[in-house]
Amino acid sequence: MARRRIVAGNWKMNMTPSEAVALCAQLKDLVVNDEVDVVYCVPAIDIVPVVEAVKGTNVKVGAENMYFEEKGAYTGEISAAMLKDAGVEYVIIGHSERRDYFKEDDALLNKKVKKALEAGLTPILCCGESLEQREMGITLDWIRMQIKCDLQGVTAEQVASMVIAYEPIWAIGTGKTATSDQAEEVCGAIRACIAEIYDEATAEAVRIQYGGSVNGGNAKELFGKPDIDGGLVGGASLKADFGKIVNPE
Ligand code: PEP
Repeated sequence: MARRRIVAGNWKMNMTPSEAVALCAQLKDLVVNDEVDVVYCVPAIDIVPVVEAVKGTNVKVGAENMYFEEKGAYTGEISAAMLKDAGVEYVIIGHSERRDYFKEDDALLNKKVKKALEAGLTPILCCGESLEQREMGITLDWIRMQIKCDLQGVTAEQVASMVIAYEPIWAIGTGKTATSDQAEEVCGAIRACIAEIYDEATAEAVRIQYGGSVNGGNAKELFGKPDIDGGLVGGASLKADFGKIVNPE
């Protein structure tokens, strides 16, 4: 069965609640596409107004992070159950900015993935290599390690429902996109790794995005590759260009 394309915006720490509502209105008609899942992953404070703003449209709402504990004394954190109750369907886990600035390691990310799935959220699990790692020739080893660690104890059925985002760190916010062949090579290797850990059917079902300076001009070629099922989009998700990524010309 063909995989359905998924294009998700990662708004990062941008957009006040009122700006978020205005952006939803600006993008509303531009992101209509029956064949694509469109997701806005927004800052926690924007979740409630954005869920309201996209009601009746094709857009789903995602969070940018969550904590793995059920509830309790974890000041400043947000649980999977809270996200679910607020109308969130997706959650980004393991973005390189969280791995780097907030020192989130694979053991923690594994707990987050499992908790998100248990709560009925779809994780968008990010992985990716640094420029140094690419130049050392260890990209595929590194990505395989991240995938294997982050998916410990996750069932095949759960993995089949997930989204994995390949985001080379050197391409994030830099304007330097991986070539479509570079992106396809790694996305294909991720799928092969899933087949190795689980089975072919799970590997065929899991959706794999590319992320890293995707824009309206390069989306068509990237998404045309057999193992790339859409994109995770930072900068370009905050402007009208996002419509061209959802509907590449
Ligand atoms: C991201 O942060 O997930 C991302 C891909 O950012 P950008 O599109 O700006 O490179």
